[in-house]
Amino acid sequence: MIPSPASSERFPRMMGEFDLIKTYFTRPTKRAVLGVGDDCALLALAPGMHLATSTDMLVEGRHFLSTVDPYRLGHKALAVNLSDLAACGARPLAFTLALALPSVDEKFLEGFSQGLLDLAQAHDCELIGGDTTRGPLNLCITVFGEVPAGQALLRSGARVGDDVYVSGALGDARLALEVLCGRLNLPSNGLELTRRALELPQPRVSLGMALRGLAHSAIDLSDGLLGDLHHVLLASGVGARLNVDAVPCSSLLQEQPIDWQHECTLAGGDDYELLFTAAPESAPAVQALAAAQGIPLTCIAQIIASERPGELRLHDKHGAKVVNQWHSFDHFAAVNT
Ligand code: ADP
Ligand code: MG
Repeated sequence: MIPSPASSERFPRMMGEFDLIKTYFTRPTKRAVLGVGDDCALLALAPGMHLATSTDMLVEGRHFLSTVDPYRLGHKALAVNLSDLAACGARPLAFTLALALPSVDEKFLEGFSQGLLDLAQAHDCELIGGDTTRGPLNLCITVFGEVPAGQALLRSGARVGDDVYVSGALGDARLALEVLCGRLNLPSNGLELTRRALELPQPRVSLGMALRGLAHSAIDLSDGLLGDLHHVLLASGVGARLNVDAVPCSSLLQEQPIDWQHECTLAGGDDYELLFTAAPESAPAVQALAAAQGIPLTCIAQIIASERPGELRLHDKHGAKVVNQWHSFDHFAAVNT
């Protein structure tokens, strides 16, 4: 890097860069051939497997509030990446962590690394390297997974006639954000419940793997249902007909006015559930999978042929047409800047 007066003491007074890496981010590896400590890490891929990889960055003020608990921040930083592997039907193997920190705050690092490594252990996904520097708080994780060649779930595989499903319940993360930003009130136990959805999302890794060979296409829901579904429709060159009242939401959200329910479930974002499409004949297999995994899988739409790929027709439970007035998240859209 470019030498500067600060470069020889990027983390002065307290713990240095390499002690920090050793203490908080170096753990023995079981699967990786080589983990943290050398110029590269080494992963051995089993024959017949493709490497699935994905990167997600979390920026303070953009993706998380400065008040978030460090343990939950560590959890979420990895969870959003594991969710991408889940959407492809890949098994997690390892990840790297690029970290910019304003200072060495050991209390923060303890909580953050614990949240990160607890989730990593739960999914048997090893931290094998990264980069650490001083700067405004910024977290970037790259995950590596494996998927049998030719079996990855893609956005482009939706077929006309497919049913469209979502896992779990949508909208609670957005509900929590509204409360935390002071725009909405919930009873205090309600806040903690929805806050868990926002801060401790559980990536649907085993569901994603189980959908291989059953789902025709899949995506994880990070920017809002309608926007993410639109990605699938465009990639697959099809349209969809969606029942806005069929989208599953928590009992807390069901108590909210219907406009709020729709706003949170259709455009909320940060759900980290899976959306997938499957042939109508697969409906019994999908419900058997839901029972086996203990995760609700709800059919909310059908894929239709369309001369305008990406076309989304919305209707309510009575079949009446609903005008699409929702905007999914886009970092560079005028409405969000
Ligand atoms: P280099 O200068 O060769 O890129 P670094 O000095 O940046 O290496 O890092 C030393 C070792 O520590 C490398 O193996 C790197 O992958 C690892 N590392 C650095 N930061 C982190 C981190 N935040 N988490 C995990 N490993 C890290
Ligand atoms: Mg480096």
